[in-house]
Amino acid sequence: MKLVDTHCHIDLYPDFARVIEDTERAGVATIAVTNAPSVFQRCVALAQGRKFLRVAVGLHPELVGTRHRELPLLEDLLGETRYVGEVGLDYVTRDPTERTRQRQVFATILDRCASYGDKVLTIHSRRAADEVVAMLGADFPGTAILHWFSGSAKTLDKAVAQGCFFSINPAMFESAGGRRIIAALPRGRILTETDGPFVAVAGRPAQPGDVGRVIAGLAQSWAMEREAVAELIWSTFVRALTSERRGQHDHAGTE
Ligand code: MN
Repeated sequence: MKLVDTHCHIDLYPDFARVIEDTERAGVATIAVTNAPSVFQRCVALAQGRKFLRVAVGLHPELVGTRHRELPLLEDLLGETRYVGEVGLDYVTRDPTERTRQRQVFATILDRCASYGDKVLTIHSRRAADEVVAMLGADFPGTAILHWFSGSAKTLDKAVAQGCFFSINPAMFESAGGRRIIAALPRGRILTETDGPFVAVAGRPAQPGDVGRVIAGLAQSWAMEREAVAELIWSTFVRALTSERRGQHDHAGTE
């Protein structure tokens, strides 16, 4: 089975060398997201010579308050990778100044990514799904993957209409809200992630091979064989990497 983890913080495991070895051995295509531009090069060094790791440049919304001065560095690094994340908005903070700064940073990132046209973004939207989807808009030239989406049904529909993809993780199967979202998603827009090491499975941090648990969960709810689910997810991933223009997503509702 070809497996994909579109959102894993490979640099944040205490034993990252072992996790990288495991990921290579399992052959899981993994987008290694980073939380600040200043750690990108270090993560690239970790991924050196690895077949299955792709390093993304990111600026996590919860770090925007302390790291926003790294935004110009992120803009420079966009020339070195096609993958961007973790970026987005996090409205757990109620501080209007902080929220405004997050929006400014995210707007700049979207604008710079749009100028390339083929970037693949893995996007955080906790308590801010409406705003994130509105900022992406219908014409964003690139691939937007909403990671661990938890917005309303209405926002979900809008994101689907705009051509977004959705990466789901093992933790989402454990809440009623997460299961409702998974059930509402078009099957052709679903990707797998672990968000390791932040998501735990079996009392330990999830790592890329644990996307098998997401495949198993989907196989059960769709009454399909795991292999068929894995094939569908892989073909969705390939499509996410090759459909560079929003216009190609017009048939969203029928997938
Ligand atoms: Mn994350």
